[in-house]
Amino acid sequence: MTNAKENQAKSMPERKVKENTTRKSIPHTKKKVNNEVKEERTKTQKRQTKQINKQVNKKENNQTEQRTNRPKGRRKNTKLKEDVRIKKSPLKIIPLGGLLEIGKNITVFEYEDEIIIVDCGLAFPTEDMLGVDLVVADTTYLEKNRDKIRGLVLTHGHEDHIGGIPYLLRQMNIPIYGTRFTLGLLRNKLDEHRLLKSTKMYEVAKGETVNFGKIKVEFIGTSHSIPDAVGFAIYTPIGTIVHTGDFKIDYTPIDGQKVDFGRLAEIGEKGVMLLMSDSTNAERKGFTKSESTIGEAFDELFSHCRKRIVVATFASNVHRVQQIIDSSVKYGRKVAICGRSMVKMIETSVELGYMNVPKNTIIDIDLVNSYPDEALTIITTGSQGEPMSALTRMAAGEHKKVAITPNDLVIISANPIPGNEKFVSKVIDDLMQIGAEVVYSSLADIHVSGHGCQEEQKLMLSLIKPKYFMPVHGEYRQLIAHAETAEKIGVPHENIFIMKNRKSLRNRRKRS
Ligand SMILES: [Zn+2]
Ligand SMILES: [Zn+2]
Repeated sequence: MTNAKENQAKSMPERKVKENTTRKSIPHTKKKVNNEVKEERTKTQKRQTKQINKQVNKKENNQTEQRTNRPKGRRKNTKLKEDVRIKKSPLKIIPLGGLLEIGKNITVFEYEDEIIIVDCGLAFPTEDMLGVDLVVADTTYLEKNRDKIRGLVLTHGHEDHIGGIPYLLRQMNIPIYGTRFTLGLLRNKLDEHRLLKSTKMYEVAKGETVNFGKIKVEFIGTSHSIPDAVGFAIYTPIGTIVHTGDFKIDYTPIDGQKVDFGRLAEIGEKGVMLLMSDSTNAERKGFTKSESTIGEAFDELFSHCRKRIVVATFASNVHRVQQIIDSSVKYGRKVAICGRSMVKMIETSVELGYMNVPKNTIIDIDLVNSYPDEALTIITTGSQGEPMSALTRMAAGEHKKVAITPNDLVIISANPIPGNEKFVSKVIDDLMQIGAEVVYSSLADIHVSGHGCQEEQKLMLSLIKPKYFMPVHGEYRQLIAHAETAEKIGVPHENIFIMKNRKSLRNRRKRS
């Protein structure tokens, strides 16, 4: 369950195809969402804002009280000034999506006349939204405050963080800031939507800070199941907010890009007002294994195999695909790629230098039958058993280029998203009926999450040492579990906010 968002995000490129061909349904989608939540949300936002201001003021007062314990007359003036300034300078944090739900992460940070948006994702429709292909957040608030918007900053390139951007850009043209790989994926997307030329994009390296005026945003390197993921330190005149983005703690990441522990500790040492942290795996104890453990599992499977190998995984998991390619090269196999999103993602990754594919490794999918089984790997989409995906069509004997035989080892390197289990089971059954050998995640360690478990969340809390804590990116029970972890680390109960998109920001109820 905890992998829901991650998986959902990764399987998005597959969906996008669908979305493009049925673009007409999008306004309908939006309308539906708007109608449902618009009214409620406007009220909500007001309440949220009030609450957060109250907390922030309270916090600042505490701080200034502490300061006045120290000497002397000049300090007193500082206190007075600060109090006045705070009353005039409200900070608002408004999540427009991404809480208590899967996907469409988008959060507004507003300070006086400046608005910074963090991420702009999309979500899958739920079963009751017939005829709807994708769901984007209600951005009425942004339309109303258009003049204040200084920029959109992106944590990483998963669809639940960047998928909503074309729909936002159709309403307003705003500058976008992201790391190299994230912008690479966004460029493809904007190109498809014919928005590339009109959009200003600024590449930001890890460790750099973008100065928007009163708000400054520092990009801090993290680990996740896609390259170039970052968290943010958002500096405002009344305090620092750390937003982790999606993260795990991977000490041996495939690309060597570790979490910037040193910088996080420094920022924590200077004092952080609020931490907003990824809650996806908050119910899981322990650590998420390193992505590099998967390579060992692949090597194990590849080294004993004389059959043709077919591996299904998420296109956006560049490090996973890299490891499949590495094991193939190591054991003398050529690689064929199946599925539009997989082909596109590999192209972009190689082009931008995020994937290393030795020359003459990849062969055209039309040539699969001219290689002996033991000398070939096929990397495909369809790890979720999506009805139109390449793997599903192969399993049903309907794929035009690849016919599964008893001499195939099929590896499904993913966990099914809740709701997709029956699709995945069907695909596994179909493959087995043909006589293929099938390895999936409950049989072998061939998948790890891109999100940290409780011990990693504890490490983040310990480095940042926030005054206030807001668990984000998760369903209600995951937010609650994360809140409990924060309390164990020492964040006072009354300083933890459980937010809902459509309900007000509030403190957790006192325990009876
Ligand atoms: Zn992600
Ligand atoms: Zn995410």
